Amino acid sequence: MFDCHVHSSFSGDSDMNCESAISAAISRGLQGISFTDHLDFDYPNYDDLFLIDFDKYSDYMDSIKKQFSNDIRVFKGIEVGIQPHVIDSTIEVINSYDFDIVIASVHVVDKLDLHNGDFCKSKSQKEAYTRYLENVLHTLETFDNFDVMGHLDLIRRYGCYDNKSLEYSDYSDLLDSILNQIIKMDKAIEINSSGFRYDLASPMPNFSILKRYRELGGEMVCTSSDAHRLEHIGYKFDYLKEMISSAGFDYTTHFEQRKPILSKLD
Ligand SMILES: [Zn+2]
Ligand SMILES: [Zn+2]
Repeated sequence: MFDCHVHSSFSGDSDMNCESAISAAISRGLQGISFTDHLDFDYPNYDDLFLIDFDKYSDYMDSIKKQFSNDIRVFKGIEVGIQPHVIDSTIEVINSYDFDIVIASVHVVDKLDLHNGDFCKSKSQKEAYTRYLENVLHTLETFDNFDVMGHLDLIRRYGCYDNKSLEYSDYSDLLDSILNQIIKMDKAIEINSSGFRYDLASPMPNFSILKRYRELGGEMVCTSSDAHRLEHIGYKFDYLKEMISSAGFDYTTHFEQRKPILSKLD
């Protein structure tokens, strides 16, 4: 299996060393690891937490790819946080480097941070979830320079609500629009196991959404840990494998040079 979403000390929110991360991936039997460090222009309240020296990052990734080429596949990726007004500057960075994989994520909605609670403050759960999903759809309709839609129900993690579920049946119209758009654009989704680490009791998105993606004709699904620490690389991948297979997929997908590569689930 491939871990398609891992952060490193290049990101302001991780101090994980890349070589140790690769060693952990090898020891857990993974076939590949994609480093996807953050690029979030205009992240509220932080000027540069999620901005990186990409020249340095790119050169370093090229060197460790070579260094470990006999042991494991290493991929150079990026996770871009999309807001409507940062699309042009984000595309400029994406096009300046030879990334293997670009993950698109929505971390900020209406210029309000999901992470610190600003976005959910004074919204009912229904209002917050609906507005977040509308924003994901808008992102997909206005931005297409990516390969994988990241943690598409991330709002579950940051809502200050007792019930942290987001079932397909509760937002079926919006989720159908989102999933159909992803399929039409030939993009992949990820199943992000960090949901377990944030007490969501399931990966992001959950099984009901993954199953619907398959029913609508979705074919490409990546396995992701979103690890920021060593112990989380490849986290709960046996569970992900089972979940993906139960939803009707025979393959998982990873990306090399922005091209999807399918691996049969055994
Ligand atoms: Zn993210
Ligand atoms: Zn991430």
